[in-house]
Amino acid sequence: MRHILEAIEQRADSATFASLAIPESYRAAVVLKSEQETFKGVPSNQKDPRKTVHVQDVPVPEIAPDEVLIAVMASSINFNTVWSSIFEPVSTFGSLARLARESEWAKRHDRDYQVMGSDASGVVLRVGSAVRNWKPGDRITVHCNHVDDQDPSSHDDSMLGSNQRIWGYETNFGGLADLSVVKANQLMPKPEHLTWEEAAVNALCNSTSYRMLVSPNGAHMKQGDVVLIWGATGGIGAYATQYVLNGGGIPVGVVSSPDKAEILRAMGCEAVIDRSAAGYKFWNDDNTHNEAEWRRFGADIRSLVGEDPDIVFEHPGRSTFGASMYVVKKGGTVVTCAATSGYMLEFDNRYFWMRLKNLVGSHFANYREAWEANRLISKGMIHPVLSQVFDLADTGEAAYQVHKNMHEGKIGVLCMAPKEGLGVTNPELRAKVGEKNLSLFRRK
Ligand code: NDP
Repeated sequence: MRHILEAIEQRADSATFASLAIPESYRAAVVLKSEQETFKGVPSNQKDPRKTVHVQDVPVPEIAPDEVLIAVMASSINFNTVWSSIFEPVSTFGSLARLARESEWAKRHDRDYQVMGSDASGVVLRVGSAVRNWKPGDRITVHCNHVDDQDPSSHDDSMLGSNQRIWGYETNFGGLADLSVVKANQLMPKPEHLTWEEAAVNALCNSTSYRMLVSPNGAHMKQGDVVLIWGATGGIGAYATQYVLNGGGIPVGVVSSPDKAEILRAMGCEAVIDRSAAGYKFWNDDNTHNEAEWRRFGADIRSLVGEDPDIVFEHPGRSTFGASMYVVKKGGTVVTCAATSGYMLEFDNRYFWMRLKNLVGSHFANYREAWEANRLISKGMIHPVLSQVFDLADTGEAAYQVHKNMHEGKIGVLCMAPKEGLGVTNPELRAKVGEKNLSLFRRK
């Protein structure tokens, strides 16, 4: 791979990139089909990604006409890396088998390993014969919406596509690797003022938060809206907090430690709730809600901002959902994209219908939404929330830290990039944005 790295460092022209020899195999972080039963009977929080994430060489696949082969400079850990590696809620090998039934090209995905990873920054090496807008040498980031553009159901909102998938989670050849294969319609320009690792951590979480809060497909926040954000310094929450502040809303950020509360205040969020210090107990036991605790939580929000939230940015799921549906304002909206603590959700429907509340399900983002979210990063209006950087070889440890909630913001992973700090091509914009804004989440 040395010759590829040299061409990237020298910012070689497109013809040079197009003529580079492509190796037969590449280094990748994978889970193995043979290990999908490893954690059978083990409680979720004891399933350890370090046991099931392997870094090994895998063959370079041929690219389809609508695909590109990219050199991945950096990638990131998403919570779906955790889900893949602990085989929850289901093993992802089922998705690969279903994908393989769709076409001759799709058959490539069904292997006894899966290359994980739903984020990447890097450089285009090869383009398929049907690719029009990208060429070898282009510096890119990748969003994870894998869409069948020949399916009519994809053409209103591609997230509604009947066989829409998340690249690197429900497909093979993900971004936690030195090379990756993606559809051309997953590419976006790399923000010029960012390093490879800063550019790699945004697309999945930033686009998800954009759709949930800004897009008409989500809660469509307006100026002055009070937005309650669970996990407000976590992967999606840290972008949500920025969107609320940028859009003239009033964020109420929930976190679980004084350190995270400090980051939140440094971002400009004045209303902060430390849920650990508050000690909310929304459930008396596995099956009984504690409504008095919902009320205490609501009172805490009112004491901070003087009113109930117009929008709740929900994703913890079972442990918080009843409280979220209770505290949201009359006529307000709970928007949810996940259920980290459990997906069988319960809430008191009386408060829902009598107070005319809304519930919006949201999942990743269509190309347009991802593009708009990337544009805001490129203009320095939304910032990466990179806290730590791991080497590809340590992907298992990085996923473990996210699983155990030991992290803040996003964890980046260096793939072909030999060290941190490379890849900036617009130092003037970087200076204008300011190192302080780019390093709010960095661990000292
Ligand atoms: P992170 O782990 O980075 O952040 C989530 C934060 O939520 C945690 O740091 C924690 O913050 C808070 N949290 C976790 N569990 C609870 C709980 N039981 N009660 C209250 N707060 C809790 O994950 P991400 O932000 O990247 O992802 C969050 C979820 O969203 C995951 O399940 C992920 O799979 C899903 N997701 C879905 C997407 C989609 O397209 N549908 C896209 C991206 C993510 P603290 O401890 O500070 O309170």
